[in-house]
Amino acid sequence: MTATPTLRVLSLGAGVQSTTLALLSAEGRLPRLDAAVFADTGWEPAAVYQHLNRLEREVLQPAGIPLHRVSAGSIQRDVLDPNKQRSLPAHTRDPQTGEDGMLNRRCTQTYKLTPILRQVRLLLGATTHNPAPCRYCDGAGTRIAPWRAKLDDHTPGPCSVCNGTGAITRAGQPQRNAWAEQWIGFSTDEIGRVSIRADTRYSRSRHPLLELNMSRTQCEAYLKSRDWGDTEKSACIGCPFHGNAHWRQMRDTDPAAWAEAVQFDHDYRTGPGLRHERYLHISRLPLDQAPIDRVQRREHRQDDIFDALFEVDLERAEQGDPDGCSPWACRSGSAA
Ligand code: SF4
Ligand SMILES: [Zn+2]
Repeated sequence: MTATPTLRVLSLGAGVQSTTLALLSAEGRLPRLDAAVFADTGWEPAAVYQHLNRLEREVLQPAGIPLHRVSAGSIQRDVLDPNKQRSLPAHTRDPQTGEDGMLNRRCTQTYKLTPILRQVRLLLGATTHNPAPCRYCDGAGTRIAPWRAKLDDHTPGPCSVCNGTGAITRAGQPQRNAWAEQWIGFSTDEIGRVSIRADTRYSRSRHPLLELNMSRTQCEAYLKSRDWGDTEKSACIGCPFHGNAHWRQMRDTDPAAWAEAVQFDHDYRTGPGLRHERYLHISRLPLDQAPIDRVQRREHRQDDIFDALFEVDLERAEQGDPDGCSPWACRSGSAA
């Protein structure tokens, strides 16, 4: 690997920290980025897409930083599709034993890390091969999904590997010495999330906010000073990592997103062969019945009834999972 990167690429989630990095680079306070990559799960709130459009129009384009929007499909649709084995890191409860759990977070890898790294390889000069017939469905585009067959369900459906096209187009590897410096927006309060496990032969992580000793609060102040103070946290509408503060804000300011999340929570509860039930809210109650307001008033509580009822950590319920969703962070000891 040469000392100087071939490209500097921003992993742009469109939240507070990565927006700060985009502005700092555009202002010349950090080196000039060669590209920004946004991995679109197809399920961000409308405000995030509006923010991204504005950022591209007012900051990235004038600075000559191309924005690449990449996608591995619609997460919302895919996890409900019995022909795809996709899932969210949902809170679970076994209705027979009452045992609680949580599904692994695999969506970040599928919907963010993999498409970002594919785009980085292409930016570094890798070429896409000619489409090859999909070997999972023998080029037919349809198959009986193996997990359905295990349940004696032999209904054929679109192949999940080639998305029903019957062919797969792969991106190759970049040239041997070409590599990208991958900018990741972890701030000083997130230092525990830094990991180099996502580094590859052609992509090496850099954390400019740590170099500048900037916390999330400082990023917010900086954005405010540049008229970007309304930057919101970016995440899928129905992400089970949301805390009550986030759910309340969605319910009170974006009724369409809230209705979508409530419906999805209902539709995602169970599936063929599943023993446990899946919930978006940590209380393991349907989202529209979950106690998202009670926690807000906990300072005024006179008793511990909430604890007794739901047995959850109140702070975590309020703020959400501190690890959250980043394609570049480890979570619960495993690489994202
Ligand atoms: S925001 Fe949540 S649901 Fe969406 S990709 Fe990240 S972890 Fe998965
Ligand atoms: Zn296929």
